[in-house]
Amino acid sequence: MKSIKLNIGKKFNRRQFLKASGLASAALGSTGLGFFGYEAGKNPESYTGWENFEGANQSFNRKRKSVDHPTYEKIGSSQRPDARTEVIFQRRSLFMRQWKDDTGLEGLDDYLQEYYRKRPEDLDLDLYSMKELMPKMMSDSRKYRQKFILSNAWSNAMGAVSPRSTNEPPEKSDFPSRRRFGGPTEPEKMKSPELTSNLIKKIAHELGSTLVGIAKLNPDWVYLYPMRGRGFEQDKPIDVPKHWEYAVVVGTPMSWDPMYANPNYGTSNDAYSRSRIIAYRLASFIKQLGYAARPHTPGTSYDLMVPPILIDAGLGEQGRPSIVITPELGNNFRPAIVTTNLPLNPDKPIDFGVQRFCKTCKICAENCPSGAISFGGKVEVRGYLRYQVDTAKCLNFWNSTLGSMGCRLCVAVCPYTRKANWLHKTALKVSMNDPTGVSDWALTGLQKRFYPGPDPQKYYMPSLGGENASYREPPWWLKAEDFIEF
Ligand code: SF4
Ligand code: SF4
Repeated sequence: MKSIKLNIGKKFNRRQFLKASGLASAALGSTGLGFFGYEAGKNPESYTGWENFEGANQSFNRKRKSVDHPTYEKIGSSQRPDARTEVIFQRRSLFMRQWKDDTGLEGLDDYLQEYYRKRPEDLDLDLYSMKELMPKMMSDSRKYRQKFILSNAWSNAMGAVSPRSTNEPPEKSDFPSRRRFGGPTEPEKMKSPELTSNLIKKIAHELGSTLVGIAKLNPDWVYLYPMRGRGFEQDKPIDVPKHWEYAVVVGTPMSWDPMYANPNYGTSNDAYSRSRIIAYRLASFIKQLGYAARPHTPGTSYDLMVPPILIDAGLGEQGRPSIVITPELGNNFRPAIVTTNLPLNPDKPIDFGVQRFCKTCKICAENCPSGAISFGGKVEVRGYLRYQVDTAKCLNFWNSTLGSMGCRLCVAVCPYTRKANWLHKTALKVSMNDPTGVSDWALTGLQKRFYPGPDPQKYYMPSLGGENASYREPPWWLKAEDFIEF
């Protein structure tokens, strides 16, 4: 996957900026270059995140090598396979449960007896495995346990796609229930929070996360009363567990092309589900090191207010629609969080100019069909100054469209939510290094010129005066009329 490199630390002085912005605005102001930038954005190479390696790399031309018959040969009467005996994992497990030295083959179920009578060499191998190999493996595993603890934890984490126990109270569900290969019950001694943070970030990326950040968990972001239980009593305030010390934020973008075709064709489910699986797996990995971990997965099960934790973890800044804008993906980012007591080195928040840009831009407010996004400034909410969205108006609009559930137009229209091509990277660099604020007006104007959308009223369903419109054309694979007669 292409790495994401954005130099957001470097600040220009006024002279340097004017020089850079002069060049950049000459480039950005050209319709031709804008067109090439738009075209570049359609290239799968510019996708950021998991899409970069799905489909685009399937480059072998199968049509040229297609043949009329499968390349296996049928030479007799066929028979369906019996999973009890022919699937080695199943046969071994049945064999080990049933075998007794005093009864031998006669003590096994009939189908196993029949199988081993036909394949005595398999009986020898299965007996060798049970009597010699497995005991040696268990004893050597204990001896060399630590050398392979990370590879074991990673492998097991990959299989952990369901938080079976997260409906128990945190003091029960968040802690490791057992240690593999007879290891100690106390946590592993990690060398340093810095090294551990590097490890956790690398593992999160390996598990599929596009962005990762770490925050010290601010208890202000834990819900006062639980949303969906998860081991808390519904009518009692949550007593923030002491082991929720750190929050590891992971996440992935929604599929880009349907996302641009919101409100009727995109879905948050794709990215939320990917991020959810990453969080389950990461929690499993951490638990296998002996520490507490709980996945919080928006869309389904979480006990935290997520956006401010993204800000604390240095992933982005709050934008006008009150969701977080990241430098790499804009607000096309669906996060999940793992709370843990694994000692980590928290990241610092970032400031790449969103607060100022949103004051000028307001494109999301102009395009929001429901009027849920304010054109005004921030307001105080529970002691913090923030943009506040009218969630009831927003949800009513979700119920005013006929396609995929939700809206996400504020994601699709945001100038920050653009694929990683040179045009958008240049615009981002100009915006975040501008000490004058002039570029905010210029870039907002360019965005409106190159990416206009329909009149917001047209997004509504016809019975409410709309036209079932979408911001962009849906991708070919979501155009029902091209596949289904109606
Ligand atoms: S999701 Fe749609 S209705 Fe809701 S705030 Fe965003 S643009 Fe407005
Ligand atoms: S569309 Fe403009 S105002 Fe809205 S979040 Fe994006 S940058 Fe901010």
